[in-house]
Amino acid sequence: MGSGADVITDTLETIHDALVRNRSGEVASYIPKLAQADPEEFAIALASVGGHSYQSGDVDATFTLQSASKPFVYALALTELGWSGVSPWLRTEPSGERFDGISLEPGTGRPMNPMINAGAMVATALIPGAGPEEKFAKILNTLSRFAGRPLEVDEEVFASEVATGDRNRALGYLMHAAGALPGEVNETADLYFRQCSVKATVGDVALMAATLAGGGTNPVTGEQVVPPRVATKVLAVMATCGMYNASGDWLVRVGLPAKSGVSGIVLAASPGRSGIAAFSPNLDSTGNTVRGIAALRMISERFRLHLMHNP
Ligand code: GLU
Repeated sequence: MGSGADVITDTLETIHDALVRNRSGEVASYIPKLAQADPEEFAIALASVGGHSYQSGDVDATFTLQSASKPFVYALALTELGWSGVSPWLRTEPSGERFDGISLEPGTGRPMNPMINAGAMVATALIPGAGPEEKFAKILNTLSRFAGRPLEVDEEVFASEVATGDRNRALGYLMHAAGALPGEVNETADLYFRQCSVKATVGDVALMAATLAGGGTNPVTGEQVVPPRVATKVLAVMATCGMYNASGDWLVRVGLPAKSGVSGIVLAASPGRSGIAAFSPNLDSTGNTVRGIAALRMISERFRLHLMHNP
């Protein structure tokens, strides 16, 4: 791969080494199983749309996708139903609120966007299928095709989410009462908890992001997972809503569509170029991984990836 590859690997290593001693933040504790995460773990990966992968740190560490699953399930909903089938149920406005906020449109009860929990549950409920098994099989299959390998559910994390998921069920009931949830509350919440509990490595997530960055085609398997028009819309929603109540600041400072999850994963996509992922369980007060955010900020600067940058 020549010196280009060496430069990328060296950069990831340098960034990893610069940040690995930063122990600020705390692991998520509201889902008991997540509280057992090892805060020392730290890994970074970059996957190019040309099919090359670069990694640094604890690259074999596995974690659950949590909210990093949301863009991909939204992509599946758009692929299955089209924009006209999804947009009546889901807005695409930044909420400026926490991931579990009651960010529903007054009057209609429609969630503000698919990157917060309420909107993610609507996207999940929209996935067609004869029953929950068929719907989840479709979701897992899609996440796996984005990653280019079969992914599995962490049953312990799933059980822990079900046991402590009252707030998400409450969001579900609020939407259901307003006629804004296209499914049954408990079935939808369980499907959503299952998608959050899918296990992956940082390399998997970088490839998932690279698939979005490459117009929906997985750069390694060559499979068109979702159509280009879907990838474009998903990236736009990630850019404006992907980082919860830190989304505006993120777009200014890093300038890339991104999505984080409370397990400590964050992914970003540089359209037409690459997918980047960083994993480290300690989170800041907005629920984003401390080291992961810093790593992506440095990678964006180093490779001049900010979308508003005039080359
Ligand atoms: N399963 C988590 C929840 O819904 C995901 C939240 C997140 O990653 O932001 O509470």
